[in-house]
Amino acid sequence: MSFTLHGIGVSGGIAIGRAHLVSHATLEVSHYLVPPYQVPEESARFDAAVRQVRAEFTELRTEIPAGSPAEFSAFVNLHLMILDDATLSVEPRRIIETEQCNAEWALKVQTDALLAQFDAIEDTYLRERRNDVIQVVERVLRALSGQPGYTPPPATDSEQELILVAHDLSPADVVQFKRHQFASFITDAGGTTSHTAVVARSLNIPSIVALHRARDLIRENELVIVDGTNGVLIADPDERVLAEYQRRKREFESGRRKLLELRDTRAVTRDGVTVELHANIELPDDVEQVLANGATGIGLFRSEFLFLNRSDLPDEDEQFEAYRKVALAMNGLPVTIRTYDLGADKQTDDAQPTALNPALGLRAIRLCLTEPHRFLIQLRALLRASHYGKISILIPMLASSSEIDQTLHLIARAKEGLDDDGIAYDRGVRIGSMIEVPAAALALDVFLRKLDFISIGTNDLIQYTLAIDRTDDAVAYLYDPLHPAILGLLSSVIKRANKAGVPVALCGEMAGDASLTRLLLALGLRNFSMHSAHVLDVKERILGADASALKPFASKMLRASAPDRLHTLLRKLNEVC
Ligand code: PEP
Ligand code: MG
Repeated sequence: MSFTLHGIGVSGGIAIGRAHLVSHATLEVSHYLVPPYQVPEESARFDAAVRQVRAEFTELRTEIPAGSPAEFSAFVNLHLMILDDATLSVEPRRIIETEQCNAEWALKVQTDALLAQFDAIEDTYLRERRNDVIQVVERVLRALSGQPGYTPPPATDSEQELILVAHDLSPADVVQFKRHQFASFITDAGGTTSHTAVVARSLNIPSIVALHRARDLIRENELVIVDGTNGVLIADPDERVLAEYQRRKREFESGRRKLLELRDTRAVTRDGVTVELHANIELPDDVEQVLANGATGIGLFRSEFLFLNRSDLPDEDEQFEAYRKVALAMNGLPVTIRTYDLGADKQTDDAQPTALNPALGLRAIRLCLTEPHRFLIQLRALLRASHYGKISILIPMLASSSEIDQTLHLIARAKEGLDDDGIAYDRGVRIGSMIEVPAAALALDVFLRKLDFISIGTNDLIQYTLAIDRTDDAVAYLYDPLHPAILGLLSSVIKRANKAGVPVALCGEMAGDASLTRLLLALGLRNFSMHSAHVLDVKERILGADASALKPFASKMLRASAPDRLHTLLRKLNEVC
């Protein structure tokens, strides 16, 4: 049966493919007692579910299309092994018998015990097998609930046609997708600027978050249309709808090809205002996309992604190589590397249990200042790499003068250390601050006095100013870049920085939203940094704009407060200029 779901489109374009449900089970099952005379029946029900899953795996193994990555069959074999291990296939029967409980509960009790053991394992490879156990258990639970088993994908299916359907994905999960070529992914949770969504954009595949019940409603292998531009998902479409979306997909792709013709055109408005369009990256390999889309620099390298999905931390040399690689690949173009912004929703594997309110906790520079030893390793690596290109260092989450002083002090210490070791670095390396805490935006003068540049992080600035957790889809509807408080802050920060002659960039998701390009231009912004995929859209808006004619509209917007009026003014601003 066809149905449609609405969420938040985080990455444009249309994907049409087969659903693949990603397991991130909460393993919530009901618990009830079974009368003694029914215990043998309950045990038999459990055995039947295990048999069914074993048959599914065996069938799946024979159905793997030729040419699929070797991991596919390795995974199926691994899952078979996990299933056949007595801890999962035999022990729950004992629990059913001794505790006289239902099979689901017995399996859950046994799984919880098993997962606790996994958590204690030192070996990373084995510890990571935890998720495999969960996936296998989920499958048995599904069989117990009488849901249809796995339907193997048709032999023509390849990874490029798979739509990943998950309840939630961490930024680390999404980064792992960079090694694959899925058509799209969709999640029940998340907001427009959650880090998951941010990373999704960098994959350049249509994706939707905040779909709420997609993972419950969509079946494995079901045909799904994902319209990432409008945040619409259509499951099991009829032929007419399918044909329409195939047409729209072709149209979107031909539009993108046309935009590529602008790659080497300089971003200059009709009245001669030059704008720098830089790109945001997460990993060194992203540079390829940066250059392919004609960005003239990297405005934000989120270096913390080098620290995710691993049990050890990258040492100085490894970090140095990563930063140098980017600097060299950019061949003299500016590269702004942000020191690691860990904490909140980006945790290393060795992170301590999170605080009650992680977005307001020990995150980014706060974390760095509490562990100067680890921070100094990164600072040395960054400074060493600065010898090989035009690197600037950007500090996240600074909020006060004393944090700026402590940070500058540590940078000076890192420089002294390199001097002592006779290692070269760029002595003029520029140090800047993200402006993403309202306190920094309001008390900007000290930032303008003590630092070489600033970069506005609207994702966090909006989160903290409007008090909406960017990872919580329940409040995602409150995310509003046009909120008068946000427009007021942006206008004031840009104006004050321009007046002080301190370079100001904007690197939050707002920079890549082409509907806001001309508004930001009108507010005086001349340096935008966004995911590569948006550079050409934004450039097109700039090429057609008249910067001086935009100003009166922006002034009106700054005086307006009603959302309807603000949207009308924005529409006019985009139509007229
Ligand atoms: C921001 O907060 O706007 C930003 C660019 O940083 P991040 O999204 O990584 O928090
Ligand atoms: Mg931020």
